[in-house]
Amino acid sequence: MTELISKVPEGPLAEKWTNHKAHIRVVSPANKKKMEIIVIGTGLAGASAAATLGELGYNVKIFCISDSPRRAHSIAAQGGINAAKNYQNDNDSVYRLFYDTIKGGDYRSREANVYRLAEVSNNIIDQCVAQGVPFARDYGGLLDNRSFGGAQVSRTFYARGQTGQQLLLGAYAALNRQVAKGTVKSYPRHEMLDLVLINGEAKGIIARDLTTGEIQRFGAHAVVVASGGYGNTYFLSTNAMNSNGSAAWQCYKKGAFFANPCFAQIHPTCIPVHGDQQSKLTLMSESLRNDGRIWVPKKLEDVEAIRKGTKKPSDIAEEDRDYYLERRYPAFGNLVPRDVASRAAKERCDAGYGVNDQGLAVFLDFKTCMEQKGRKYIEEKYGNLFQMYEEINDVDPYKEPMMIFPAIHYTMGGLWVDYNLQTTIPGLYAIGEANFSDHGGNRLGASALMQGLADGYFILPYTIGDYLASKFKEPKTDTNAPEFEEAENRIKERINKLLSIKGKRTVDSIHKELGHIMWEYVGMARNEAGLKKAIGLIKDLKKEFWSNVYVAGDNEHFNQELEKALRVADFLEIGELMAYDALNRRESCGGHFREEMQTEEGETKRDDENFMYVAAWEYKGQEEPELHKEPLEFKYCKVATRNYKD
Ligand SMILES: Cc1cc2nc3c(=O)[nH]c(=O)nc-3n(C[C@H](O)[C@H](O)[C@H](O)COP(=O)(O)OP(=O)(O)OC[C@H]3O[C@@H](n4cnc5c(N)ncnc54)[C@H](O)[C@@H]3O)c2cc1C
Repeated sequence: MTELISKVPEGPLAEKWTNHKAHIRVVSPANKKKMEIIVIGTGLAGASAAATLGELGYNVKIFCISDSPRRAHSIAAQGGINAAKNYQNDNDSVYRLFYDTIKGGDYRSREANVYRLAEVSNNIIDQCVAQGVPFARDYGGLLDNRSFGGAQVSRTFYARGQTGQQLLLGAYAALNRQVAKGTVKSYPRHEMLDLVLINGEAKGIIARDLTTGEIQRFGAHAVVVASGGYGNTYFLSTNAMNSNGSAAWQCYKKGAFFANPCFAQIHPTCIPVHGDQQSKLTLMSESLRNDGRIWVPKKLEDVEAIRKGTKKPSDIAEEDRDYYLERRYPAFGNLVPRDVASRAAKERCDAGYGVNDQGLAVFLDFKTCMEQKGRKYIEEKYGNLFQMYEEINDVDPYKEPMMIFPAIHYTMGGLWVDYNLQTTIPGLYAIGEANFSDHGGNRLGASALMQGLADGYFILPYTIGDYLASKFKEPKTDTNAPEFEEAENRIKERINKLLSIKGKRTVDSIHKELGHIMWEYVGMARNEAGLKKAIGLIKDLKKEFWSNVYVAGDNEHFNQELEKALRVADFLEIGELMAYDALNRRESCGGHFREEMQTEEGETKRDDENFMYVAAWEYKGQEEPELHKEPLEFKYCKVATRNYKD
């Protein structure tokens, strides 16, 4: 049986990473040139890792499903990236960022990893500035910051509402430099469909050329998965349409454990669902909560009047507005973490105060900010977000408040990794949103970009050397090995099977049905009966998919229906594992809200005695997955009930 060994180094928390780096093995420059590494994904995690590994002298092959590496989903990130620079002199520190992250994640993440993340956060900003990333600056020319949820200091670095794009352009430039030098070879429009193991170690992948349909083999000394999260299991989410969980899922099916799959983040400030024909949701950045105030009317008759259109939100007097986050959480107000803000919006809407036709929306209002700081200030800080809102809703948010509602946004769960970011398969690493690492039950805003770049620029390039140091004598992986043959044949069979079903349901209709099941029973609130029901419904839907799906076209050409079908087949399995995990975790923590486990005030109620562990699931074929537990220890943070009130 595979053992879960976290490999957290001994010694004081603040010295662990430095000591670890000093003691792990390194590969000499001459030997690096002989070694090959495959990186799956060109988002911030993959691009930064590949660029750094290339600069170190390794031979890197990098894969993505888009037509250019710089179109990875990371480009959508709006609000910013955290770092403990303390430029605002507001008493931020590495410890405070570490503590906020552990608390924000509701004490379900590993202390040592989170401390390291906070520690390297400052290097990221220096690296990106050196690359020319145009972070916002204050009047004196220093880098500016804004606040994000779950923190009482301003530590978020940003580039208007396009931080992900600017950071990715920086990483992409670094990557291209390596492509030009010949250390990195880029494979756009290539989708990894399977991981190949030889003697239990990751030695390569099977990929499909998305333009020709050709199935190809690629070998390496190690494989790094940076393929992003699985939020699109819910069909509707803020993720890019192409985001998927398949690469990580194939690794799971080859023996890598999948950790905390039920930890999915619901973001409080998204544009509400408009109808049944929608295939994507739009995020309004959390940064808007710096200056925007969230409210619903106090009186039901005002709610009714707004829904009918007889009153505008701006007609509602101040004393008739319920700024419910400020009322319930005075210490953090509108800047409570995402899970708390999302549940509070749901609570108001469930009580009948939702302000749109479906009763599933609350207001995000800039009236106070307009009065105090003026339109120019808002334009400078959030101009493109206001424009985007107006284009989608045909409402001018400078005049009337935005309508927002929670939506699926991010997945904290992912491939289980040890302190070295290695999965339970030797030679297989997972970085960025694809791993489960640092965010516990709830990720704080602006911490995903930080984690992806920490993993890619500053952690993996060291830790992978420790593994490769014992491999440099091994020859290049032979892709004629029977393991490659077998994996390739299995993929071809899977594709042929999908194309031959020729049933009556479109891939999208099945994905949408899965999304409904997930949102209803594995969404913002979960309970035992609902989760059991979800598992049954997903099993039935899986049968329906494999007997009645219709995949148009063939495998010899660009075929997006086929691409989608392969991904939806995996989403069906991921959704089932998420429900299993949620059923097993009989406590509420972070974004995982079990209705049976709540305080009298409707807040999450953890069960530290029984659930203070990472749930890592092992694939068991047709049998139920097996649960392994990594106990969590908190020596440097006092474990307490999260309090954002005082
Ligand atoms: C709208 C939005 C706004 C956000 N804003 C912020 C923010 O302001 N701050 C913050 O910290 N976080 C933010 N996030 C979260 C953050 O953007 C993501 O968590 C992060 O960018 C993920 O980066 P990644 O490198 O792990 O993966 P991704 O950027 O998702 O990249 C995945 C890569 O893997 C490739 N890939 C996937 N599957 C395969 C396969 N099978 N074969 C080959 N290639 C594959 C893709 O082509 C892509 O290149 C936001 C998220 C959304 C949705």
